[in-house]
Amino acid sequence: MTDSLEDILNKLEKPLAVEEKTGCQNFAVVGGFDRYMVTWAERAQAVAEGPLKDQLEKLAQMFRSYTDNSVLDRRRILSQARQLVSSLRSHIRQESSVRTLTAPVKEKEKKQAPIGSDAQASSVPTRLNLSDPVRFLKGVGPHRARLLKKVGVETVGDLLTFYPRRHEDRTNLKRLAEVTAGEKAAVQVVVAGRPITLEKRHLMITKVPVRDETGRAVLVWFNQPFLEKRFYPNQRLFVFGKVQWVLGQKTFSSPEVEEVTGDESLQVGRLVPFYPLTEGLSQNFVRGLVKEVLDKALDQVEESLPERIRKEYGLMPIRQAVEQIHFPESSRSLEEARYRLVFEEFLTLQLILALRKRGTRSRQGIAFRMDWDRIERFIAHFPFTFTLDQRKVIGEILSDMEKAEPMNRLLHGEVGSGKTVAAAVALFAAVTNGYQAAFMAPTEILAEQHYRVLREMFQEQGIRMALLIGSLPATLKRAIRNDIASGRAQVIVGTHALIEETTLFHRLGLVVVDEQHRFGVLQRAKLIWKGQSPDVLIMTATPIPRTLALTVYGDLEVSVIQELPPGRQRAKTVWVPVGKKRQAYEFVKKELAKGRQAYVVCPLIEESEKLEDVQSVVRHADWLAKEIFPDARVGVLHGRLPPAEKDLVMDQFRQGAIQVLVTTTVVEVGVDVPNASVIVIEDADRFGLSQLHQLRGRVERSDHPCYCLLIAQPSSEEAKERLRVMTQTNDGFLIAEQDLRLRGPGEFLGTRQHGLPDLQLAHILRDTDILLKARECAWKLIEEDPHLQDPLHRRLRHKVEAVEGGSDLLEIA
Ligand code: ADP
Ligand code: MG
Repeated sequence: MTDSLEDILNKLEKPLAVEEKTGCQNFAVVGGFDRYMVTWAERAQAVAEGPLKDQLEKLAQMFRSYTDNSVLDRRRILSQARQLVSSLRSHIRQESSVRTLTAPVKEKEKKQAPIGSDAQASSVPTRLNLSDPVRFLKGVGPHRARLLKKVGVETVGDLLTFYPRRHEDRTNLKRLAEVTAGEKAAVQVVVAGRPITLEKRHLMITKVPVRDETGRAVLVWFNQPFLEKRFYPNQRLFVFGKVQWVLGQKTFSSPEVEEVTGDESLQVGRLVPFYPLTEGLSQNFVRGLVKEVLDKALDQVEESLPERIRKEYGLMPIRQAVEQIHFPESSRSLEEARYRLVFEEFLTLQLILALRKRGTRSRQGIAFRMDWDRIERFIAHFPFTFTLDQRKVIGEILSDMEKAEPMNRLLHGEVGSGKTVAAAVALFAAVTNGYQAAFMAPTEILAEQHYRVLREMFQEQGIRMALLIGSLPATLKRAIRNDIASGRAQVIVGTHALIEETTLFHRLGLVVVDEQHRFGVLQRAKLIWKGQSPDVLIMTATPIPRTLALTVYGDLEVSVIQELPPGRQRAKTVWVPVGKKRQAYEFVKKELAKGRQAYVVCPLIEESEKLEDVQSVVRHADWLAKEIFPDARVGVLHGRLPPAEKDLVMDQFRQGAIQVLVTTTVVEVGVDVPNASVIVIEDADRFGLSQLHQLRGRVERSDHPCYCLLIAQPSSEEAKERLRVMTQTNDGFLIAEQDLRLRGPGEFLGTRQHGLPDLQLAHILRDTDILLKARECAWKLIEEDPHLQDPLHRRLRHKVEAVEGGSDLLEIA
């Protein structure tokens, strides 16, 4: 099947908008926006008829010489093209409405035909479309449709990809006569009489007699009299549990039981699927639905992997895989089905990464010239010697910047390892080449701090700086934006305010994004679009396990700072039970007496600091000031303070005027006050591991011995595990790996946020070998067929285009 005219118009619309948004630089699409437009306009001609053909030729013509035009003219061309596309679209729409008008007539003809088996079949369709709503299925009324929607199933096609959470092996059913005492057994039986509940002393005992053709047994439950109602004579049951002899009877006590209804072969004597369901939906009901859909719609599932690839990687055909993942014939075919589907998930993701990388490579970037002597002199200005790791990554960054290909590099290093300093050298190199450099941070506090630190380095070099954050007065912001647009400001530090539409750069050559995990891929891209293929450096302190790096950052080069500046101390970490809170604060007092400072962190979520939460921080600070530290100055910092006040508090803390800073997680990232030697985290069990590790990093900024006190009374095992990990290690990589294990990859980094497809079946830690194979396959494919234009790759291309936010690979790459 080729694309319809409408499909093609859809493909044209988005890049047009993106090209306009990104300043008509001809890079809205990998490999050239102009070529893309011409190609598709020509393809559209092949499927169009009559006057439409001419219009499409006109469209192609517009882009054949697109790059010869000035930006102003390009804008005009874009707007004409947009009008043309939308008029073509309304033309098609009219046509198709004419077509649907004729449809009922056909229906009538059908009714006049003699009523026979055909008419009957149409009330229970023998064939379903993947896009049909689940309501079309037997037994799904509005109520169940709502429940299914809750678990993400709205269409017939959704059911096919609604993968089981696990399978239970019920292949080896036993006869009752074969079952022996002490073993765990699975049997299929019939209820052989009325259930009864007896009361013996304080125990309620519910008994259900069962039998099969070989013998009898009893099912027993304690103190659950309500179960009685569930059973009735002749009911068929699947039973699994431990068998004992009690009073001369074979007894299953508190077994797992499932009523066998309808299609028995879905429930017993096989590997039985269990779905992630919600209250009100039974496993058996859903099994039946899936089975029906497999029978009636599996033939519409299309193979997206060319046979050559399936052969090379030993992958099962898609229809077989879908069938086997639900109702496998054997555990081996289940494994193979899963392998195939996981491979495909990883493949789509890797294709996107490969395309992104290619997109960067194919663009013409800036080849900065390095004046090495001058750079060494700049480095020599710092009051400390750079670590070897710092020098190494600076070398990597600068040599990327020298190349014409745009840099796209991730700089990873533990909190306090000196990333900001390394970035400063890159900023310096960009600015001395006559370009502007932007430095984006996730919070205002952090942006201000970077601004302050960088200003110290740059002022004496005569480099002009600007700070752009949302909370500045409008007039001031306007003035700063003017400075940025005119090129007066050379190094611009800021928050999201940098990517607002009204912020325009004069000549942006380098983009540094700090604490990358706080920004989505689109936000990153928006800043990049402010320049013409600027170099990009992304920094993160969240250690990334290798598999994740391949998954989420697979399109970036990676630099790592491993060693900390000399003399750095690691925080001794102690888990303090709530009852010993006072002792923890007594310890803090001793640190204050030595002239040190302290953080006290209360658990709030910065993005949504509610009033009550803020009040509780303030109350806690009051309590500390009165009860614990009557002689010390206690300050409060949270996201709801007016910016001027935030500044004031941070300043006072930095200068030592405030000794104890009670704060929300606004200090989580990057805040740098080396004299602070102890951090107390209240309700530490409510924080994630990586967050705790980041917080702890606040006090590991000097050569003083330092401490992290986690006050917590955790209720869950998982929370206890987190605290244990914290007290046992300071190694960021280990912590990240544990965090990933405890929370799962989705939450750990948020694939969505990175514009990547969700992984449904794939497990990032377990399926590493499949990931590596899929990666190899994807990168080879993109080498051979960079635009996935080969008809054999058509369905793969659609998959890439269909990824939410990532279809924008067209845009971003
Ligand atoms: P990061 O951004 O990785 O958290 P920073 O660049 O903010 O780390 O550095 C943390 C602190 O360490 C800063 O106060 C900085 O001045 C200092 N610092 C950086 N590099 C060195 C070094 N090589 N020797 C001593 N101190 C350093
Ligand atoms: Mg930092």
